[in-house]
Amino acid sequence: MPPRTRATTYARRRKRRLAAVTNDLTPAEWTALTAAWGGCAYCGANGIPLQKDCVLPVSRGGRYTATNVVPACRSCNASKCNDEVTGWMRRKRLDERAFLERWAVLLHAARAAASDAGDGDAGEGDAHGDDARDVDAGGDTPEVGAFPGAATLTDA
Ligand SMILES: [Zn+2]
Repeated sequence: MPPRTRATTYARRRKRRLAAVTNDLTPAEWTALTAAWGGCAYCGANGIPLQKDCVLPVSRGGRYTATNVVPACRSCNASKCNDEVTGWMRRKRLDERAFLERWAVLLHAARAAASDAGDGDAGEGDAHGDDARDVDAGGDTPEVGAFPGAATLTDA
């Protein structure tokens, strides 16, 4: 049983707050994000464990989604915490402009991929609501009847 500290209280509140919001980042999306950034999104550190950081902090309405999460090193993640990203980067003298430009490109790609999936292509993960709809649409429609010659061929 961990001692009751401010940190554990904060962690519990954070957990409850997260449970109440939409967090649909899938493991596949996270893998793609870490590959696309190739390191910490903020300081560029690589070869170290990366953590999921919400660009718009959860406390400010951000969510753990493919369009709001970037990989961050432990140091950046802890330092940024609930700060607004651009102000924090400026204070840390990080390359805010490079980050925003790269992020914009990735967001554009993510949205393009999302709209492709919406066209009826097979989805990648079970977490997407679209997949359920696709399964219904693809249902058990009998195909044989649409092929007049099929029955004849099997009988002969
Ligand atoms: Zn970093």
